[in-house]
Amino acid sequence: MSELQTIHPTLRVIPREEHNVSRRDISPNALRVLYRLREAGFGAYLVGGAVRDLLVGGHPKDFDVATDATPEQVKQLFRNCRLIGRRFRLAHVVFGREIIEVATFRSNADDGSGERETHEGGRVLRDNVFGTIEDDAVRRDFTVNALYYAIEDFSVRDYVGGFEDVQHRLMRLIGDPEKRYREDPVRMLRAVRLAAKLDFEIEAATAEPIPRMAPLLGEAAPARLFEECLKLFLTGHAVASFERLEYHGLLDVLFPESAIALRANRSGALRRMLIAGLRGTDTRVANDEPVSPAFLFALLLWPAYCRALAQLQHGGMHAAEAERRAADRVTVHQLNTIALPRRFSLPMQEIWLLQSRFSQRQRKRVFRLLAHPRFRAAYDFLNLRMAASNEHADDVAFWREAQHQPGDVLAAQLDTQPEGESAGAPRRRRRRRRGSAASGE
Ligand code: ATP
Ligand code: MG
Repeated sequence: MSELQTIHPTLRVIPREEHNVSRRDISPNALRVLYRLREAGFGAYLVGGAVRDLLVGGHPKDFDVATDATPEQVKQLFRNCRLIGRRFRLAHVVFGREIIEVATFRSNADDGSGERETHEGGRVLRDNVFGTIEDDAVRRDFTVNALYYAIEDFSVRDYVGGFEDVQHRLMRLIGDPEKRYREDPVRMLRAVRLAAKLDFEIEAATAEPIPRMAPLLGEAAPARLFEECLKLFLTGHAVASFERLEYHGLLDVLFPESAIALRANRSGALRRMLIAGLRGTDTRVANDEPVSPAFLFALLLWPAYCRALAQLQHGGMHAAEAERRAADRVTVHQLNTIALPRRFSLPMQEIWLLQSRFSQRQRKRVFRLLAHPRFRAAYDFLNLRMAASNEHADDVAFWREAQHQPGDVLAAQLDTQPEGESAGAPRRRRRRRRGSAASGE
């Protein structure tokens, strides 16, 4: 059965005076595109995340346009337009750094029916199935993502009950949830991510299959899952994302080894540390400070790393060797699900491997660590560990001082300390660490 037979799109028009989408909040470039399409006689609508975000009073980061003009017709209207995509051709209208994406209405080519439906005015172009505005609405994922703001009368057009769902703050899949998740398992993550971002609930029938179907996410493209992770955790709602992923059973699929380690950690210190780190990330985003995927993944995979390290050491491996093996093992295993690029996984591992060096006080090593490009990130990480476990306070105090002291003062201070590490460190540990510093970097 095709999607169109199970869903009956019925149009509800919400006139301008009954909604809060205002042209004042729409990017002037998006308005330019909408008006130009309209003047040329085409249907022109703002659609998707932008309409949803405007309805809840948010500030959309990008503005997508839907139209019945074909990509070629769009290209003829705008000099600053290029066509992209092989499977579905899209028009990008470029205004300096802002790109307005213009998509021709299309129907769901992946509706599982095995049939390609063509509609009046629709045609098959490569794999590009054009459709009506109704087709375009029902192929979208959630009802709140399928609202159309019409430039001709400033009304919002709703074919699937999305307007009401926005009022009730509900994420509801269009059509049969199981079928929609099977079509594209990443929709499970999108449900959680958008609910976290908007502070919406996931409607019961949309939430119900998630724990059951979560394993399907393992088949999603690892590169796409990496991109989703960045949106889940680096856009200002990391704590909410994490808690909802955990609640809906998705953490076990995204970060299986960390999920196991978190459950096994009786004291709860690993979880506290993780949440504190994610809260810090949210604060940085709120303050427009930079956030790094390397630090994020160091946090998310720290429980897995600690567990792997403990296992290796339990088997008798020396600390330095075990640390490197644990870091590699966790990284390699994680790559099965999420394609973490090397430019992020290498600094992530450095953040972990630097942790054991904070207890070393030999003059040469102190200066080497202070000069390490990952010192600051690793020190911030140490702070999180201290806050969650009430350990490492001496180390944090030492390095907090050390990084602000003039070199000669610090050197003099270190020279007056007994040779080697901080007082009381056992000799055996020191020797192992020495091996670590020699072979680790
Ligand atoms: P945000 O940009 O805040 O992450 P968004 O809803 O705009 O959220 P995009 O990935 O930009 O997300 O997608 C734009 C629109 O395309 C969505 O609003 C939705 O209508 C549609 N869409 C995106 N991904 C899917 C999907 N996996 N299945 C069906 N429709 C989708
Ligand atoms: Mg978007």
